[in-house]
Amino acid sequence: MSNLIETHSDSITDYLSVEYPIVEHFYTIQGEGAHTGRASYFIRTAGCDVNCWWCDVKESWEEEGHPLMKVGELVELVKESGAPFAVITGGEPLLHDLLPLTVALKEAGIKTHIETSGSSPLTGHLDWITLSPKRFKEPTDEIFDYVDELKVVVLTNKDLQWAEKNAARCPEGTQLLLQPEWDTPKSIPLIVDYVKENPQWGISLQTHKFLKVP
Ligand code: SF4
Repeated sequence: MSNLIETHSDSITDYLSVEYPIVEHFYTIQGEGAHTGRASYFIRTAGCDVNCWWCDVKESWEEEGHPLMKVGELVELVKESGAPFAVITGGEPLLHDLLPLTVALKEAGIKTHIETSGSSPLTGHLDWITLSPKRFKEPTDEIFDYVDELKVVVLTNKDLQWAEKNAARCPEGTQLLLQPEWDTPKSIPLIVDYVKENPQWGISLQTHKFLKVP
């Protein structure tokens, strides 16, 4: 599904000088979800107000202390890498207005993907939206119309109920994925049994951790 969400119409030249706090950015192989195994450029923005206790990127929670990078600089890096798409992740990337970054990437011929909890207003010109909803701060109503992939991290049975509650609000054809929380091995048999009984769901694994790819 393609999504077009516009918030204002400044020129592309203005967009190139917009800055975002960036935790890290790198050319890699997508490790999880529907696009697992594909070459992609990850851009991790700083700032998150969701506070999942099991978060594995806690260094991304604070905006302060991370360098500001201009859109133009990021777009050049993605172009030079040869990546066909950029994955904007966090932190929670929707704490920032993503219109400048996503429009500039698309102008450069790069597809734009996002991984989000959906808990802040949706902005940007996005080709693929992965919603990873968290009970700690629930998604906004508006994001559900645009979801391409629903990826729910599972620790216990409660998360399976949470997954179904969110799936019921997603468009028909949304890819439905359950992902075991990395440090909770007991979630694996739970997910395996659930997917066998509910085959509209699939399993997402954090393959980058097995492969030791950043
Ligand atoms: S939403 Fe993502 S970055 Fe934010 S606390 Fe949860 S897992 Fe961590």
